[in-house]
Amino acid sequence: MESEKKPFGQLLKDFGLITDADIEEGLAHQKETGQKLGEALVELGKITGRDIEWVLSKQLDIPFVIVDETTTDLELLQKFPKDFLMVNRIVPMYETDDEVAIATDDPQNTEVFAKIEEKFAKKVNISAANGDAIDALLSKLLKQEGSPEVQSILEKQFERLQETCFYRLDIRLNPNSITIGAFGFGILKTIYKAELGPDENFTRNDFFAALDTMGIGFLYEEYGVENGEMFSIYPVGEEFKPQAAPAVIGAFGLGLPEEDTFTDVGVSGLERVHVAQGPVDGYDFIAVRGYDGRSEQIIYTIDSAPVEFLNCYVKVYIPKMCPSCGGAGCPECKHLGLLFNLMDGIFSFNDIMTTLKQV
Ligand SMILES: [Zn+2]
Repeated sequence: MESEKKPFGQLLKDFGLITDADIEEGLAHQKETGQKLGEALVELGKITGRDIEWVLSKQLDIPFVIVDETTTDLELLQKFPKDFLMVNRIVPMYETDDEVAIATDDPQNTEVFAKIEEKFAKKVNISAANGDAIDALLSKLLKQEGSPEVQSILEKQFERLQETCFYRLDIRLNPNSITIGAFGFGILKTIYKAELGPDENFTRNDFFAALDTMGIGFLYEEYGVENGEMFSIYPVGEEFKPQAAPAVIGAFGLGLPEEDTFTDVGVSGLERVHVAQGPVDGYDFIAVRGYDGRSEQIIYTIDSAPVEFLNCYVKVYIPKMCPSCGGAGCPECKHLGLLFNLMDGIFSFNDIMTTLKQV
């Protein structure tokens, strides 16, 4: 096979892309720089990257295709790990009983094709395509295709958590599983757990992108963990504003003040919330991690609020065990095992504790 190939420069010349003089110039530049001849010719402006891909496909006697959404099999796309496609610049085109067709900008990437053959136990049918076009298409499709699943998980959980004390979601991603815990009022409850197939793989970015698509702004914290990723998100609802500060919030969708606000954790999708180590004079401060000093303009979560506070704007959902299921989970409590009573107004910490004991 190898010996039948024409030299690359000769091929370029046969296709009328360059002259003998260009080849000589290219070879000289190649000697200086140690590049491949094609790269040298691109650098000299004799040809484009696209010319190389096209000629390579001719040299290897494979078709050159223009990749776009219509030439891509979205179901087949899901069968590949995203990173694998991005790193190797591969667009899955279609699958038949005995072959998997792909487009790539590197038709000589035989090691990778062998992996696909092994995975599918089918022959790989290769087409060449422009690398930049592959990059652009993959980033579009993988974002589009990656998010709906995560988005659907989040939407279901968000629906369950409305009007509850759970204001924080703890998301743990391991190579083979997703676990989501809901936290609030000292209660941590696992609300979602799924095993993943060998090729399914979600990252923090899938979650952030899904929230972005859903138009949800949020605060977040990230933790280093072994063998996976762990992060917490605090969705911030636009639907209610703390009516005064200091405030104590124990509700899903932490309140968002109307003015510019600062917070002690990460922020995404909230233009008027900024990160700061501690309270900034004259501004509200959402103290997710707690704050020991004195400030009138602090918005605490129920779990970070100082126990001695007296008159505070409070919006807290007080949890009580679901009487129908005794905490085991039933449709009435959306399988959370808890029901909630809203406490909304000016109260002291003591008032909250008294109410908690009463329910
Ligand atoms: Zn129940």
